[in-house]
Amino acid sequence: MSELTELRERAAACTACELHAVGTQTVFGQGSQRAAIVLAGEQPGDNEDVEGEPFVGPAGKLLDRALLRAGVSREDAYVTNVVKHFRFKRQGKRRIHQTPGVEHVRACLPWLQAELDAIEPQLLVTLGATAAKSLLGTSFRLTHHRGELLECSAVPGVPLLATVHPSAVLRAPEDRRDEMLDGLVADLELAGRTAAARK
Ligand code: SF4
Repeated sequence: MSELTELRERAAACTACELHAVGTQTVFGQGSQRAAIVLAGEQPGDNEDVEGEPFVGPAGKLLDRALLRAGVSREDAYVTNVVKHFRFKRQGKRRIHQTPGVEHVRACLPWLQAELDAIEPQLLVTLGATAAKSLLGTSFRLTHHRGELLECSAVPGVPLLATVHPSAVLRAPEDRRDEMLDGLVADLELAGRTAAARK
C-alpha cells in the first residue's frame, strides 16, 4: 500500500474537528505521489463532498482547463484542500458553502503536511485566500502577493505560490472572467516553469 493510500484511509476516519459530523465524507487529495506540484484549495464543495474527490465540480473543471492551458499535466499535479470536510449551512434543500474556521484549518493542517511529506513536491500552489492564509498567516494578502514565489515555515524547502481559487473566476462578473482566468493560467505557467527548473 502506498503512503498516500494509507494516509487516505486514516483520514477517512478522522474526527479531529466537528466537521466530520457535518460533511458526507473526508475528501482526501488525488494525484500521483510523484507529482511535482501540489495544489491546495480551501475545502471540498458540494459536488466533492458527495463524490469524495477534490475538484470534480465546476471549479475543478475550470482548474483542469487552466492547467491544460498552462502546460501542466495532471500527472504532474496533485490536488487537495487545506480542510478536508465540507462546511456548509442548509438553506432549504441547498447546502451553502461556509468558510472553514481557524479551528478547522488548525485541526486539518497535519493531513496536508502529511501529504506534502509523502509527495515531496517541487512547489506548493495555494488556491484562494483561505488556503494561503492557513499556511502564511492571517495577515497575508493575496492581492499583494499572488504569483510570487514565497517561503513558508510550514513547508520548509518547498516554495509556495499563492493564486486565486478557480471558484473566484467562476464568481467574477462576466466582463472580468476572462482576465481572471488569464491571471490564473499565468500563475500556473510560472508554477510549471518553477517546478521544472527545480527537478
Ligand atoms: S476537516 Fe480535517 S480535521 Fe476536521 S474531521 Fe475532517 S479530516 Fe479531520
